Amino acid sequence: MVQGELLYEGKAKKVYATDDAGLVLMTYKDDATAFDGRKKGTINNKGIVNNRVSCLLFKLLESKGIETHLVEQTDDRKVVVKKLDMIPVEVVVRNRVAGSLSQRLGLEEGIPLSSPVIEFYYKNDDLHDPMINESHAMVMGWASEAELLDIKTKALKINEVLQDFFDGIGIILVDYKLEFGVFAGRVLLGDEISPDTCRLWDKESLEKLDKDRFRRDLGKEEEAYQEVVRRIEKALL
Ligand code: ADP
Ligand code: UDP
Repeated sequence: MVQGELLYEGKAKKVYATDDAGLVLMTYKDDATAFDGRKKGTINNKGIVNNRVSCLLFKLLESKGIETHLVEQTDDRKVVVKKLDMIPVEVVVRNRVAGSLSQRLGLEEGIPLSSPVIEFYYKNDDLHDPMINESHAMVMGWASEAELLDIKTKALKINEVLQDFFDGIGIILVDYKLEFGVFAGRVLLGDEISPDTCRLWDKESLEKLDKDRFRRDLGKEEEAYQEVVRRIEKALL
């Protein structure tokens, strides 16, 4: 696989063309940002952990029949994926109250939700990723009604698989963000699932093992990320 031109540099990853028009190469960085990029820093080896965690979780999802963009991890920071036509909607799945839901509704963090809550946000840094509903997504032409139904069905299936898996390694999957894109007419799961994009709490101590350690200046970010990859590898390798 030949690494071609840089197509896009985001906050956490770079996306390169390859010699196959249907594939791109993503490289994971250690840069950490929060609060719309107002807080910037580095978490040592974050890129390596996030690439590993994401590849292992995507493989797990594939094994349960959920199509993803994953092709092959080629290096500790690199992964070859199918080039998706990204749907500019961030799909947040919540199993417990935390973060923006806690703030918006004035509810204490940690309250379990009786069934998963799915939220949609328009992926646009300049507008600070505003929350949207399905009508907005359809009318703006970001996703069709059929694609939204597909996304919701897939998000709930993903949630079943991941909640069960994390529970088995002593972690509560509090909430997380998914991104989907279209490849050859099919909606596939893209981007990443990692401690950057999930809230992961130790089941016993409720210690945070995710990016909230960085957002909230809790320290020991690197150790928390390493603990997540250690438990996932122990369960899956
Ligand atoms: P951001 O754009 O939010 O700063 P990243 O730094 O993670 O995020 O950049 C990765 C970019 O690649 C994101 O914009 C994401 O939507 C996009 N992306 C993820 N998976 C794919 C894929 N399979 N094909 C094309 N683009 C993708
Ligand atoms: N999330 C993400 N990227 C975003 C926004 C949210 O990965 O641009 C994840 C976040 O890590 C958390 C979940 O989505 O696991 C819900 O985030 P929330 O709406 O609570 O926003 P936050 O308070 O984290 O900004």
